[in-house]
Amino acid sequence: MNANFLQTPISYLKGVGPNRADTLQSELGISVYQDLINLFPNRYIDKTKYYKINELQRSGADVQLVGKIVHIKTVAQQRGKRLVALFVDETGEMELVWFRGQKWIKENLKLNTPYVVFGKTNWYGGKFSMPHPDMELLTEHQSGIRMSMQPIYPSTEKLSAKGITNKVMGKLIQQLFTETKGRFMETLSPYLMEQLKLISKSEALLNIHFPKSQNLLAKAQFRLKFEELFYVQLQLIIKKMVRKQKIKGFTFDTVGAHFNSFYKDHLPFELTAAQKRVIKEIRADLGSNAQMNRLLQGDVGSGKTIVAVMAMLLALDNGFQACLMAPTEILANQHFNGIKQLLGTLGIEISLLTGSVKKSARKIIHERLENGELHILIGTHALLEDKVKFKNLGFAVIDEQHRFGVAQRSKLWHKNDNPPHILVMTATPIPRTLAMSLYGDLDISVIDELPPGRKTVKTVHRYDGNRLKVFAFIKDEIKKGRQVYVVYPLIQESEALDYKDLMDGYESMVRDFPLPDYQISIVHGKMKSEDKDYEMERFLKGKTQIMVATTVIEVGVNIPNASVMIIESAERFGLSQLHQLRGRVGRGADQSYCILMTSHKLSSEAKTRLETMVRTNDGFEIAEVDLRLRGPGDLMGTQQSGMLNLKIADVIKDNDILKTARFYAIQILKEDPLLSTPQNKALQFTYAQLVKHKNIWNYIS
Ligand code: ADP
Ligand code: MG
Repeated sequence: MNANFLQTPISYLKGVGPNRADTLQSELGISVYQDLINLFPNRYIDKTKYYKINELQRSGADVQLVGKIVHIKTVAQQRGKRLVALFVDETGEMELVWFRGQKWIKENLKLNTPYVVFGKTNWYGGKFSMPHPDMELLTEHQSGIRMSMQPIYPSTEKLSAKGITNKVMGKLIQQLFTETKGRFMETLSPYLMEQLKLISKSEALLNIHFPKSQNLLAKAQFRLKFEELFYVQLQLIIKKMVRKQKIKGFTFDTVGAHFNSFYKDHLPFELTAAQKRVIKEIRADLGSNAQMNRLLQGDVGSGKTIVAVMAMLLALDNGFQACLMAPTEILANQHFNGIKQLLGTLGIEISLLTGSVKKSARKIIHERLENGELHILIGTHALLEDKVKFKNLGFAVIDEQHRFGVAQRSKLWHKNDNPPHILVMTATPIPRTLAMSLYGDLDISVIDELPPGRKTVKTVHRYDGNRLKVFAFIKDEIKKGRQVYVVYPLIQESEALDYKDLMDGYESMVRDFPLPDYQISIVHGKMKSEDKDYEMERFLKGKTQIMVATTVIEVGVNIPNASVMIIESAERFGLSQLHQLRGRVGRGADQSYCILMTSHKLSSEAKTRLETMVRTNDGFEIAEVDLRLRGPGDLMGTQQSGMLNLKIADVIKDNDILKTARFYAIQILKEDPLLSTPQNKALQFTYAQLVKHKNIWNYIS
């Protein structure tokens, strides 16, 4: 069927009309034929077997029977009434029962006419009954598309309320098959079909909706999942290719004084093998004439900063400026101080630009940036403002990418006439599979090794009732000269309540850890940034022993003497957040601890999160669990979730198919970058259609 036909508005389909069209659009986003054909069932019910009444088991399974209704009556019950039909076959009798919609059913049911009924059976009062069965006249059943597996479509309350039941949905799709004669244009190339032994598009669509057998269903699923993932990969790779060809990067061919002198004389420690490898990867990119877009993954504390700093030095050595953008002011501050300390004696000009930099100081920074006096600029989102203009930005680092959307990445990109090289760093490790589908347009480097001598943080879960013991433990640690974080959740929707929890917690800490023996700092998002900095500074200098805070300290804060992390209401945090928080300790030479405090009321998901934290320190493993619990959209934050709006494939479960899809996408594009050979005609056409109808994601521009 030709591609335009599938763009017909859904209201034109027989059986839809304007009302249903509206509901389909608002509930399922279906506006044209194509959307409906791509509404794939969630699950299937096996209808290969017709049961006899005397074969029914008390297991409550879904079954299908053929028989007749011989009698209907309305039975009064405590509240309201129910409609009961006596249903018989040659082996016995049972009841069909309705609590809702009785009038309509009573008027429409035919007595003594063969029906196929389908539903869950109950054993009640010495006989079987089936509440709200799916019913179809046997004649109707026999004339429909023969199916052994009944599809169950995604549904919503509103859909059922408007009478668009699963059965109706099936009918509509059947109607669509009638109008299209079940013929759909092939969207994959003969080469792929042959290599992967795929069934045709038409066969796949038919069997995904109306499977003829388990085997054909499996083939249909494979074919459609492959197709979906293939086009995602195709898009990602095409984007990357276009960028690499069209956009010439600055070539940093000199490894000069800054880099060499730093490497020889100023490195505060020996780099790990993983850090060296990644620096090499980055150097190779910067030395070629393509523009770098690289994602640097590494667990909390793996030492990503130094890698970024050394890459910045390469930019400087080649006459360019560099910048680093962090998601919070605290983190930007810390990077600024840390990097200044690292590079202090090299004669490099570094400034900090955040929202709280005064206007006058800001003006000076703007000027020095434009005339090139400033070499490195570190800051927050403030860097993205239009007023911030570089003389020649050659290299940009984005720290903790999961906090930023794609929009920011692209904004940095446009800071120059020529885009700078971009290094994106993330401490929320993303499983490789997901990274491939989310960031498939980036190159990926991984630091998979922690600096030597790190002790793993001991993690325990304690109930609120054990608080006194926990406090005693804190006192012991403080006696040893250590410092302690106590973190409270701050979740937007219940902000006022959360602040109250935080303040109550702070007050109770003050009571249990009184002056003058103990000094307590508090930091939260509602404080002025000077006050925040002042408190952070006191904690950093060891003037206070306890830091009570919200998650503002989550990202990147580095205070090596802090060795205990107490997380209050830990059940309310997500896994990656817990892992980030834990990463605040274990940065010094001492054994560190993370104590997860919770009430006794825990959902099974919360339990899994806590158990995972106690079991492992490995960020990649934690990310896998997180992904399973929350699904990929949530994991990446809402900004990115739309990109993983897959219709049938699942990036985790269909990992192998994803790899295969990527493999073939790369291979095909390598041989035919424009997909212009006759062999790839279907691919070229389908890809163009997907882009045209925005059925494929809008990635970074
Ligand atoms: P992250 O990857 O979480 O951003 P950082 O770059 O902040 O980690 O590094 C964490 C700590 O480890 C810092 O104090 C840093 O100085 C230190 N560090 C980094 N690399 C090494 C190394 N190779 N050997 C020893 N310490 C290192
Ligand atoms: Mg960091």
